[in-house]
Amino acid sequence: MSQADRKPASLDPDATLDPKDWGELRAQGHRMLDDMFDNLASVAERPLWQAPTPDQRARYRAELPRGPGRLEDVHAQFMADVAPYGSGNRHPGFMGWVQGGGTGVGMLAEMLAGGLDANLGGRDHMPIEVERQVALWMAELFGFGPEASGLFLTGTSLANLCAVLVARDRALGADVRHTGVRDVRVVAYASKGVHSCIVRAMDMTGLGWDRLRLVETDADHAISLPALEAAIAADRAQGLKPFLIVGTAGSVDVGAIDDLSGLADIAEREGAAFHVDGALGALGVLAPAIAPRLAGIERADSLALDFHKLAQAPYDAGFLLVRDAAAHKRTFTYSEAAYLRHAERGLAGGEWWPCDFGPDLSRGFRALKVWFALKTYGLDALGDVIGRVCKLAADLARRVEASEELELLAPVGLNIVCFGYRGADNAAIAADLQEAGRVAPSTTTLNGRTAIRAAIVNHRTGPADIEALVEGVLASGRAQASRG
Ligand SMILES: *Cc1c(COP(=O)(O)O)cnc(C)c1O
Repeated sequence: MSQADRKPASLDPDATLDPKDWGELRAQGHRMLDDMFDNLASVAERPLWQAPTPDQRARYRAELPRGPGRLEDVHAQFMADVAPYGSGNRHPGFMGWVQGGGTGVGMLAEMLAGGLDANLGGRDHMPIEVERQVALWMAELFGFGPEASGLFLTGTSLANLCAVLVARDRALGADVRHTGVRDVRVVAYASKGVHSCIVRAMDMTGLGWDRLRLVETDADHAISLPALEAAIAADRAQGLKPFLIVGTAGSVDVGAIDDLSGLADIAEREGAAFHVDGALGALGVLAPAIAPRLAGIERADSLALDFHKLAQAPYDAGFLLVRDAAAHKRTFTYSEAAYLRHAERGLAGGEWWPCDFGPDLSRGFRALKVWFALKTYGLDALGDVIGRVCKLAADLARRVEASEELELLAPVGLNIVCFGYRGADNAAIAADLQEAGRVAPSTTTLNGRTAIRAAIVNHRTGPADIEALVEGVLASGRAQASRG
């Protein structure tokens, strides 16, 4: 039926999208919730990953659905064709990339947030206070003080981009928002192991890749402070000015933690902003064995972190904390639009509008799932998860070093183990394991060699999964060796 054939839209004033019979929707809703609980409770019993068949993919190329369908049918299609073919990050054998495993509490909070349908761009309502509370907790946890600003973003990629913008405007003056970037005689520094999103932030902020120095790392893959000082001296000699030093608290490749105190000293001396990419490791402050190695994080001007990694929040939940809230606001606020005017009273009141602190106007209630998790599990339990995955990584490293056939390819500082089967094609081993669906490591390149990379993040991962990984790598490596 084409649009032209359609009868005129119903002008029935009762024709909303709400159901005629809430009881029916409620009963179906309970079935959907139960299905998802069953699905979550049995996640370890199913394959971690399986590729969808061409047939299944084809079923998702349907005509525009002009007319209605039955909710139970759509849900059945989801359960049959979508749920079993996810990327596997909830599974205890998932070690492929730095991804959390989600929680039941997170799932329920997402449902509540969806039901409330709050828009957290701004205005005067309680959901904003929930986000504000999480920001105050983070400011306290990281020693930023109550004056700091914080907000949720999709992930650390965006939080890092926002932090580079704040640092840019601090260095070039707020006028850069009018004129655009003209004076690019400013330079940023980060280690060679820095996440690619910092590199991308340089072009997205108009500064350009040429203004980022990727500094050599030392044996533990952390930034070399002497190499950083030398790079700064060389740039100064050229008349360039350091404006930003980025420290990494848990590098994505190997989990290396930069010397944050050392970086804070250098940033202070050079008058540069100090930003910490703590996507992976910042919440290590909750684990007594890791916290001392993060000393200096409390001196950062800004900090990016991800609740969807070690804190296990369902996707997505990135977060940015900025010490100087006024500078943060100067970078993003735009008061010219009448529809965004803040009022003295009424619904358009409220002191803290997140849209003044980031690129988004309409924003969902990401804060709710994190607020629920922090209040129900408690910070200590999250710290225990972090301590446990780091211990599993250390155990795996020992297991690798005790084997004649395996070799450790990077030191293990946090929760990531890079290793290989001697003389084998490690990429093929990783692919074999992923396809077998019991454990899923990924790969990375270290010193020109392909390593099997096990990033142990998921709170469900235990010793049996580590054993399955070791056994799987040995079996696949031996099979390769015997094929010659
Ligand atoms: C994951 C990660 C990022 C990117 O964060 P997203 O949440 O995926 O945008 C940046 N830096 C580090 C160190 C990471 O581990």
